[in-house]
Amino acid sequence: MNEIIKEKYDVLVLGGGPGGYTAAFRAADLGLSVCLVEQRKQLGGVCLHEGCIPSKTLLHGTSVVEEIAAAVEYGVTAENVQIDIAGLRAKKEQVISQLANGLDKLGKARKITCITGKGVFQDESTLLVEGEGTVTEVRFTDAVIATGSAPFKLPGYPTDPRIWDSGDALQLERIPEKMLIIGGGVIGLEMAQVYSNLGTKITIVEMLDHIIPPADKDIIQPLFLKLKKKYTILTKTRVTYLEVKESCLCASFEGATAPDTQEFDAVLVAVGRRPNISGMGLENIGCKLTEQGFISVNKHQQTSVSHFYAVGDVVGEPMLAHKASHEAKVAAENIAGQPSIFDPETIPSVAYTSPEIAWVGITEKEAKKRKLSFAKGKFPWGASGRALSVGASTGVTKVLFDKTTGKIIGAGICGAHAGELIHEAALAIEKGATAEDISKTVHAHPTLAETFAFAAEIVNGTITDALPSRKK
Ligand code: NAD
Repeated sequence: MNEIIKEKYDVLVLGGGPGGYTAAFRAADLGLSVCLVEQRKQLGGVCLHEGCIPSKTLLHGTSVVEEIAAAVEYGVTAENVQIDIAGLRAKKEQVISQLANGLDKLGKARKITCITGKGVFQDESTLLVEGEGTVTEVRFTDAVIATGSAPFKLPGYPTDPRIWDSGDALQLERIPEKMLIIGGGVIGLEMAQVYSNLGTKITIVEMLDHIIPPADKDIIQPLFLKLKKKYTILTKTRVTYLEVKESCLCASFEGATAPDTQEFDAVLVAVGRRPNISGMGLENIGCKLTEQGFISVNKHQQTSVSHFYAVGDVVGEPMLAHKASHEAKVAAENIAGQPSIFDPETIPSVAYTSPEIAWVGITEKEAKKRKLSFAKGKFPWGASGRALSVGASTGVTKVLFDKTTGKIIGAGICGAHAGELIHEAALAIEKGATAEDISKTVHAHPTLAETFAFAAEIVNGTITDALPSRKK
C-alpha cells in the first residue's frame, strides 16, 4: 500500500538513536514540525537496543558476583551465589523496554510523526520509507541524517553463528566455554567482563601494545594487572586465520605474544565500527564524504548540501552517544534559525570495566607527542581513605596542566566510578580551571572525588595527603 504524506514537514530526521531522537525532540521544542523515520520498531538506536544500555545492565548484573566474592574481606559470605541467565536477560529487556517506551511517549507528547521503516532519499526534499507492507513518501524542508554505525567486519573472515559482533554477544543466547575476543577496545573488554563473570574462559587479541589504546598505559595498568590474572591477553598480536570446524573455531595467530593455534567455542569481533552511509540514497543528494568515509559537516553540523545536516557516528569519531546528542541539538537549533556550533573543549570517554577507565582532554602520550610543556599530578588510590574503606584501592587519578597557562588540559582515572568522577575534570577543562582552582575547591572527605583534588594539589605544591614532590 502506497501512502503519501501530503503535509510537508519542516524537518525530516533519519535515524532514531540518541542523535536522531535528540534532534527531533529539540526541533519540535523550537516550534518546528518534525517527521522521524526509524527502521526499528522503537526509538533508541544501537545505544539503547544493542549497545550502551544492555551492556551496562549485563555488566552490573554479572559484577554483583564479583562484589559478593570480594565482600569476604568484610566478613560477609554468601553461599551458592548463582546467575540465572534467563533472569538476567529479562532484566536487560525490561530496562530497554522501559527506556524505549519513555522515548516513544516523549516523541508523542511533542507531536512528532514517527514512521517505522527504511528511508531512502529520492531527491533533496523527498524521502521514501519502506515499512512492513507500506511505502510512505515524506516531503521536508530540512533534513538531519543520524543513521549511526555498524560493527566493522574483518575482511576474509568466515561466516558462522559462533562468530559474533557486539549485538550477538549481548543476546546472551549461549555461554561459551572458551571465547576469543578480537580487539582489546571498549566493547571487547566490556563483553569479556560479562562473559568471564558467567564462567567463560577469555582470550583477548589486541594488535597494538596495550588494551584500550587511546588511553594512557599507566591509567590502564591497574586494570591490566587485574585482568591478566583471569584472561589471556595477547597484545601486539593478530589472528591470521580462523577456521570453522564442526566442533570448534580454530584460530591461528601472529605477533609478539602469538601462541600456537587454539580452539574456541565462540569468537567476538570487536575491532571498531563503520558509518552507515549506504542504502539511504545519499547519492541522490550529493552530500560530500570525508576521506575516512564519514559524512562531512561543518561546526553547525551542516553538510555540503546546505539544508542537510548530519550528526552522530555517521559524521566521525568519537562514536559516542553523548557526542551525537550534543551535535543533534546544534543541528536542530541551526535549522530553527538559532546560531549554534558544536565546539566542545573535550568529550569524555569511559570503559565500564571493573575497575572503570575514564579519560578526558589531552592524554599524556598525546601531550608528549605534541611536545607540550605540562605538569602532572598523579594520586594512587591506595592512599585514599574512601577507596580503602570501600575496597576500591585498585586505582589512580592523573591530571595534566599546561605549564604556560596553568590550566588543566587532561585527566585520566582508573578506579570504581571513574566514569562518574571524570566529569569534574571535563567541567574543569571547559572552564579553564588551574591546579590552584581545583586544590582550593573544597572536596568532601572521605570521597573518591578527593583523588582529583589531591592530584591537583600535587601540581599546586600544597599536597599534605602525600609527600610533596621535591623541589629540583
Ligand atoms: P575500539 O576502536 O574501541 O577498539 C577496537 C580495538 O581493536 C582497538 O584497540 C584496535 O587496536 C583493535 N583491533 C583492530 N583491528 C584488530 C585486529 N585485526 N586484530 C586485533 N586487534 C584489532 O572499537 P570497539 O571496541 O569495537 O567499539 C566501537 C565503538 O563503539 C567505539 O567508537 C567506541 O567508542 C564505541 N563504544 C563505546 C563504549 C563506551 O563508551 N563505553 C562502549 C562500547 C562501544
